[in-house]
Amino acid sequence: MKKRGTIFLILITIFLLSGCNNQVQKYTFTQEELGEFESLPKYKIWIGEGYLKLEKKNNAPHLISLDLLRIAFPEYLSDIPEDGVPRYVKAEILTKVPQAQVTVTENIVEIGINKREETENYNYVNLNWEDPLGYIFLVNKAFPLNKNYEDQSLKEIKSPHLQPMYNNMRLSEEALLNLEKMADAFYKDNKLPLILVSTYRDYNHQDRLFTNRIASNRANYGLNYEDAYKKASEIIAIPGTSEHQSGLAIDFSNSSLMQKGRTLVSDFSNEKEGKWLLNRGKDFGFILRYPKDKTDITEIVFEPWHYRYVGYPHSQIIFENNWTLEEYLEYLEVESKYLHEDYDLFYLDSQKIFGDEIYYFDGIKIENDNKGGWILTKFKK
Ligand SMILES: [Zn+2]
Repeated sequence: MKKRGTIFLILITIFLLSGCNNQVQKYTFTQEELGEFESLPKYKIWIGEGYLKLEKKNNAPHLISLDLLRIAFPEYLSDIPEDGVPRYVKAEILTKVPQAQVTVTENIVEIGINKREETENYNYVNLNWEDPLGYIFLVNKAFPLNKNYEDQSLKEIKSPHLQPMYNNMRLSEEALLNLEKMADAFYKDNKLPLILVSTYRDYNHQDRLFTNRIASNRANYGLNYEDAYKKASEIIAIPGTSEHQSGLAIDFSNSSLMQKGRTLVSDFSNEKEGKWLLNRGKDFGFILRYPKDKTDITEIVFEPWHYRYVGYPHSQIIFENNWTLEEYLEYLEVESKYLHEDYDLFYLDSQKIFGDEIYYFDGIKIENDNKGGWILTKFKK
């Protein structure tokens, strides 16, 4: 009897210990802990998995945005109500987060479940940065690129399985690396190179194309400037609104269409290249940017030849949900997150997290959307 009792006790202990190890204790904020605040602090932010440090820049009380907590401690915080509640908590509340080590001083709040060493590598971005950063920024009529915007990593396209139509065609470095991989895969399947009609175009090039079209519309149709401009804008992107200025867009064609003088036509969707790119582009970070059934959203006609590099996992998500880039970014902004088995995405509005600078540790990628939002991608191991 005594022996059986001992075994029972050992089993209970093992059960409890293993339970403690596997189970994350969660903390839910009460309504009282979530409050409205008038004076808002400005912060310098360090963020990593299970780690958040904020250095205050003014005299306001320490207030932490729930969006930041959600990114750093998804495991430890229960779902925070999204609607009708303020988005900030007082720093002192963080001491209630289980397993957290919290330090609150006059200027610094540090909350760590996973300890960070000062020597660890982190990357840095200024959230007041206005130029596009990363690969998912929007370029359209509503959100044009600055006249002077130029990707700093542009590289000339030279690859055995890529056939540029002109000399010195260039693309943003990461887009090019993935385009080369895609061309290799296409070659493996079809024993053909991918033909590139247009890649990076600078603002001035786009401006010339547009101005020439206005002139020819006036000459050919006898239109006044306004009507000629309007007609030109239906065919050619207004300078600053072309994705080609981003260095991330590509127009493809193939030899049979080009022989017929029909380089960029909707029939490309029925060609070997058009079909292959539609299904496989996502594997290399590319999306069909102007689909047939989404012209009301993109405000661009169906362009089966135009692909845009957005990178992984964005290309995968956009493909699976049958979204345009506009719809994807809208989703992230409204929902503020997209959770997946392999990665989590979070949307940050720099106005709402009071951050000027953000330092982020390995495993996090940060990009902006060219309309005031920042997207953090956290890759899971
Ligand atoms: Zn194009």
